[in-house]
Amino acid sequence: MSEFVRTLAAPSLRLSEVFRSIQGEGELAGTDSLFVRTIGCNLRCRWCDTPYTSHAPERGERVAVDDLAERILNEDCEHVVLTGGEPLLTPGVVPLTEALRAAGRHVTIETAGTVFRPVAADLISLSPKLSNSTPDGRWAARHEATRDAPAVVARLLSEFDYQLKFVVEGPGDLPEIERWLADHNVGRDAGRSRVFLMPQARTAAEYERLAPRVRALAEALGFRFGPRLHVARWGDRRGV
Ligand code: SF4
Repeated sequence: MSEFVRTLAAPSLRLSEVFRSIQGEGELAGTDSLFVRTIGCNLRCRWCDTPYTSHAPERGERVAVDDLAERILNEDCEHVVLTGGEPLLTPGVVPLTEALRAAGRHVTIETAGTVFRPVAADLISLSPKLSNSTPDGRWAARHEATRDAPAVVARLLSEFDYQLKFVVEGPGDLPEIERWLADHNVGRDAGRSRVFLMPQARTAAEYERLAPRVRALAEALGFRFGPRLHVARWGDRRGV
């Protein structure tokens, strides 16, 4: 194989951005983390907070996995978060996570749980998309048909350590969350501590308004309140 063909065949992915910040959500909220955001999503959530990876995807930068791994490992940051978009859409995440784990990094994958890849991950941060995510318009049917993939979810939950993050607008979402948990046979007893309810908000003002109500719902039901530190501090600003 020529060098040119080898270069073309090398695993790569389309990158939106790499930035260092604190983890804003879930079990590791507050942890110094390096975020690696891929472009591309198979869903179109009505309230998506990264439309530049989904509704109006940017072209991004195509990067070789080896180069990206080197760039990440040059940062002295133990926690790496692969996010999107939907990072599991791209096969390149598999060798990337393998390289990061081999170098001792803690790898979190943020996913909606509609695609499976045999990644090397310490934590699958699974955010199932409820019916409150379904947009109006031409994407509605496709989104609705894609957002729940029980076989994928079952595999992710059985093969990885995980947390579940549900985006909540109000009490009307709770029956659907309980149904989802029952269908997947998770979220009972001690398992409720893996379930985070997060306010649906894209601005700090929206977050401040909804957070107390979602916190009360979470505590009443034995779930955990899921903070969104980025939204509370920076709204929908990118790269922070
Ligand atoms: S899954 Fe995430 S990136 Fe994709 S549309 Fe929904 S919120 Fe946006």
